[in-house]
Amino acid sequence: MFNWRRKKPRDRILAMPFPRPWQEVLHDRVWQYSELSVDQRDRLHNCVKVIVAEVDWRGLDGIEVIDGMKVTIAGHISLMLLGLEDDFMDEARSIYICRREFDDRKEWEPIYDTDTVSGRAHMNGATTLSWHHVLNARHGGERNLVIHEFAHHFDRRDNRMDGTLRFKDPIDQKQWTIIMEEEYNELCDAAATGRWTILRHYGAKNKTEFFGAKNKTEFFAVATECFFESPDRLKRSHWELYDLLARYYNLDTVRWLA
Ligand SMILES: [Zn+2]
Repeated sequence: MFNWRRKKPRDRILAMPFPRPWQEVLHDRVWQYSELSVDQRDRLHNCVKVIVAEVDWRGLDGIEVIDGMKVTIAGHISLMLLGLEDDFMDEARSIYICRREFDDRKEWEPIYDTDTVSGRAHMNGATTLSWHHVLNARHGGERNLVIHEFAHHFDRRDNRMDGTLRFKDPIDQKQWTIIMEEEYNELCDAAATGRWTILRHYGAKNKTEFFGAKNKTEFFAVATECFFESPDRLKRSHWELYDLLARYYNLDTVRWLA
């Protein structure tokens, strides 16, 4: 069937100037934006333009998806792409937005034990987000819903959403397995005893086991949130984890706070 709403080719999207109102949205809602180098800002602008133009945006529960919402969400996703050349997260091209938490009980495999969830990264590449929770991201915080859900999309690049990642360097690959195991066990211990840690206890959650190994997808998503929202505190208390995430995303997020 002929597609009447055929999307613009990417080179035309990239050639477009970055709209001034979009810059204001990013200043207001993505704190990292003001800290980026000139090159990083150019890269972020390109990623935002591509994501806004190419994603199939849909409002569920009657919410109207306006440009400011698209730019906010694309801005957070683009932070994760800053160090990754020519990567525009092409595999996640459907974003559904609800006003608040949504009912996940009808899903075949709920990821939370509660009745409602604030976000969901689906294995088919779609993402559902509660707009109310998208706005909760802040500097020094430990939560960023968009970054959390898109960390799951990075995680499923090896066709498994379980915390295993593909590193370019085999030494990093080996280190990730070791450090993730240590950090995950430590977090499980903190969660069990109620001890505070910079990593949210939610990261100790595990729904599935693969061949006897605990599924660590929530651990990776929680660690990624921390890497982008509180890089200084993560580096101070979990430097090996910080260094591995910096190599995975090819980005030294702590520099934003220097
Ligand atoms: Zn999650």
